[in-house]
Amino acid sequence: MQEVIANIAQILKEEDDFLVTAHVNPDGDAIGSMSALSWLLSRMGKRVAAYNESGVPRYLNWLEFPCEVYTDLGDLPFAPRRIIVLDSGSAERAGEAMQRFMQGVPSICMDHHLRTPEFADVNWIDPEFAAVGEMLAILADRLAIMLTGPLGEAIYLAIGSDTGNFTYGNTTPRTLEIAAEVLRRGLDLESFTARSEATWSLNRIHLWGRLFDNVHLALDDQVAYMTLPDSLFTETGTTMEDSEGIVNFLRRIYGVKVAMTLRDLGPDKCKISLRTHGVLNVQEVAAIFGGGGHRNAAGATLNMPMPKAVEAVIAILAEKLALDGKQA
Ligand code: 5GP
Ligand code: MN
Ligand code: MN
Repeated sequence: MQEVIANIAQILKEEDDFLVTAHVNPDGDAIGSMSALSWLLSRMGKRVAAYNESGVPRYLNWLEFPCEVYTDLGDLPFAPRRIIVLDSGSAERAGEAMQRFMQGVPSICMDHHLRTPEFADVNWIDPEFAAVGEMLAILADRLAIMLTGPLGEAIYLAIGSDTGNFTYGNTTPRTLEIAAEVLRRGLDLESFTARSEATWSLNRIHLWGRLFDNVHLALDDQVAYMTLPDSLFTETGTTMEDSEGIVNFLRRIYGVKVAMTLRDLGPDKCKISLRTHGVLNVQEVAAIFGGGGHRNAAGATLNMPMPKAVEAVIAILAEKLALDGKQA
């Protein structure tokens, strides 16, 4: 690990004109890491641009960047000489346009998902890290850059986001030490929380109310799931982005071992999100459907309508939970 960190630190020092990117439909770790690395590079006096195919979700648009976040590679203000892909378990996760773009520019991958292939020229992939934001804090330390100001906020957002605000099993003493270091360097936690939490619309609250009315249990109440039909978003004046995070609440139902949400992506396409408390490895379940993620949080896109997808995933979960019961 030390070797690859040294290698990346060296590239950051020696080269210039960086493009920073992360996975499509970005979460707090993806956007927080993009911001953190952009600040790191700009503090080093480097030219940097950020890109995300889906842009910055509205609920994260309060986060500061030292540069523009582009959604079209044709708009970049300079030709990047190095691309850094963050929080992406595969090249496809960065989006089709980026995947093509990467073929002509040297790249670095920094990721913490299970089974991420080495798709870049330099790869720092380590599932022991709770978030890519945690990896960036280690890199900042190596570069003797302090986690102050917007850099500290971005790291805190990234780490808090992927650890469920320091509650999931991926939270380690190192994770908490980095959070402590950000606070030590002056993060105003009250103002940070106000900005990061007060991002909901009334419509979103209504959407969640409607969704919570429609929770189903399966496999002797060990699985909780809900479908998120397009019509519900239209009726409540919301978008898919407004359902972000709801899956975590299903996991709070007593006795539930696996929680799942399914979102419509078209007539024969849907996206599943899986969560568990470590009872079984949901990354393995998502991988069966061509997706991936972590042990306790994973996702996939299925080429089938939602009712069929429910059946297909529950059949796999039935096998895994039966196996788990035998092992216990
Ligand atoms: P979420 O359910 O919040 O979309 O994603 C949970 C985790 O699974 C995240 O770490 C995310 O990167 C990963 N994930 C979600 N969807 C996909 C997918 O379609 N493919 C892969 N490889 N990973 C996914
Ligand atoms: Mn992510
Ligand atoms: Mn992440």
